Amino acid sequence: MKAIGHFINGKEVPGKSKKSGQVFNPATGEVQAEVAYATRDELNEAVELACVAQPKWAEVNPQKRARVIMKFVELLHRDMDKLSALLSSEHGKTLPDAEGDIIRGLEVAEFCIGAPHLLKGEFTDSAGPGIDMYSMRQPLGVVAGITPFNFPAMIPMWKFCPAIVAGNAFILKPSERDPSVPMALADLLLEAGLPEGILQVVNGDKEVVDAILDNETIQAVGFVGSTPIAEYIYTRGCANGKRVQCFAGAKNHMLIMPDADMDQAADALVGAGYGAAGERCMAISVAVPVGEKTADKLVEKLIPKIESLKIGPFTAGKDIDFGPVVTKEAQNKILGLVDKGVEQGASLKVDGRNFKMQGYENGFFVGACLFDNVTKDMEIYKQEIFGPVLSTVRTKNYEEALDLVKTNQYGNGTAIFTRDGDTARDFANKVNVGMVGVNVPIPVPLAYHTFGGWKKSAFGDLNQHGPDAFRFYTKTKTVTSRWPTGIKEGASFSIPTME
Ligand code: NAD
Repeated sequence: MKAIGHFINGKEVPGKSKKSGQVFNPATGEVQAEVAYATRDELNEAVELACVAQPKWAEVNPQKRARVIMKFVELLHRDMDKLSALLSSEHGKTLPDAEGDIIRGLEVAEFCIGAPHLLKGEFTDSAGPGIDMYSMRQPLGVVAGITPFNFPAMIPMWKFCPAIVAGNAFILKPSERDPSVPMALADLLLEAGLPEGILQVVNGDKEVVDAILDNETIQAVGFVGSTPIAEYIYTRGCANGKRVQCFAGAKNHMLIMPDADMDQAADALVGAGYGAAGERCMAISVAVPVGEKTADKLVEKLIPKIESLKIGPFTAGKDIDFGPVVTKEAQNKILGLVDKGVEQGASLKVDGRNFKMQGYENGFFVGACLFDNVTKDMEIYKQEIFGPVLSTVRTKNYEEALDLVKTNQYGNGTAIFTRDGDTARDFANKVNVGMVGVNVPIPVPLAYHTFGGWKKSAFGDLNQHGPDAFRFYTKTKTVTSRWPTGIKEGASFSIPTME
C-alpha cells in the first residue's frame, strides 16, 4: 500500500502521528493509498521552517522568482501524462478532464511569470516640495491554502503560484481524498529551483486546518470548498486576525430563452451538467427554460443526449464522458437526494440510480439523472448535489427566471442562452452572481481575469487569480520621502495638505 506523508523542506517525510486516512480509486472502490494526517505540532513545525526560509526568498529579485515558475510550467508539460493519470486515479475524472485540471492551473502559473510587472508599485514625482511618494507591494510572510478534492491540481496552483512568486512561503493543506498530485507539484517546484521550505504540503483533516487557523505566524488563508466549512474557516481565521478569503459552494442556473438555439443549449447543458460527474463548482445544476414550449422542447432534446452519455473508469480511454464520483459517501449522498426528489414530486425523466459498471461493480458510479418540474421548496433544488443530476425548473417569463437566480442563496456562476442582445445584456447587468456566461455554459474566467462568486459562494474580499491574487498575497507600503533635506518650512502642527 502506498503511504503518502507530507512535503517538508524539500522532501516527502512520513507523518509522526498515528492518524491517517484512506485514498480510494473511485472506479474500483479499492483503497490505493494511506495518507498521513498531521497534528497541530507537525503543522507548527512546518510553519517554523517556512518562516526561516521565507526572508531569503523574498530577497530574490522578482524576475528570478518568476523564472522558477517558468521552469515549473515547462516541467508540468513534461509530466502532463503522468500527472493526469495520477489525478484521475484518485479523483475519478476522465484523462482529458484531468489534463484540463492541470492546464487551468498551469495558465495561472503562466500569468505569474509576469510577477515583476504585477508587483511594481506606483511613484509620484514632486508630490510636495522635494517630496516623492511611492508605494511597494511586499509579501505577507507565511501564508496558507486549504483546497478541495474536485480540482486537486488547478486550485492548489491558483493559490501557491501567485503567493510564492510574490515572495511568500506557502503552507498547502490539500484535500485528503486526492493528495498525490499536490505532493507531485511540490516536487516539481523544487526541481524548478524553488528553495526548500517555501512550499510545504501538510496533509490532514480538521485538526491541521484548525492548527493553520490558529497559528500566529500564518498571515493569510485562502480556502476553497463547501459553504459550511468556508463560513467556519472565514469566521475563525478572521477572529484570529488573519486575512481570509473563502470560495464556496454553488447552485448554478442556466436560463434558456424561447429564442435560443435549442440544440446548442441542450449540448451546453449536457456538457456543463454532467462533465466531471457534476463535481465542479461551476457545473450547471439547474436548467431554467422560459415558457412551457421552451421547456417541452428542451427536455425532449435533453433526454436522448443524457441517456447516451458514456460513463466509465478513466482507464477506458478518451471516449468516456464522465467517471465515478469521488467516494462511497458522495455516491450515497447523491443517490439519497435523487430519491428525495422523487419523493417530493419532481419527475425523474432519466433515472441513473441503478447504473452498474460491468467489471467495476464496487466503483462509486452514479448514472446521469434528469429531473423536470422541480420547485424551489424541494431538497434537490435547495442543496448542492455535486453529482450528475440536472434539475429543470420551469418559469413563465424572463422576470420569473431572473428572480429565481437572484433569490438563490448561491451566486457562483450562471448563464443565459438567447439570440437577443437586449435580454443578454439586461441579465448580465442585473443578476447578482459573480461569473456570467452569455451562450457560454461554464464561464470560468481566464487566468488574467479573476474568479469568484457572490452571496454564499464566497466570503471575504478579492477574487482568486488574476491581479486580485497579487493583492491578496501582498501588502502595500507607501513611502513619502524628501530629498534634498535642506528645505526648511519650520515646525507644522496641523495635518499636511497640499494647500
Ligand atoms: P470540503 O469543504 O469538504 O473540503 C474542503 C477542504 O476543507 C478540504 O481540504 C478538507 O480537508 C477541509 N475540511 C473538510 N471538513 C472540514 C472541517 N470540518 N473543518 C475544517 N476543515 C475541513 O469540500 P470538498 O468536498 O473537498 O469540495 C467540494 C466543494 O467545494 C463544493 O461545495 C464545491 O462547490 C466547492 N468548490 C468551490 C469552488 C469555488 O471556487 N467557489 C471551487 C471548487 C470547489
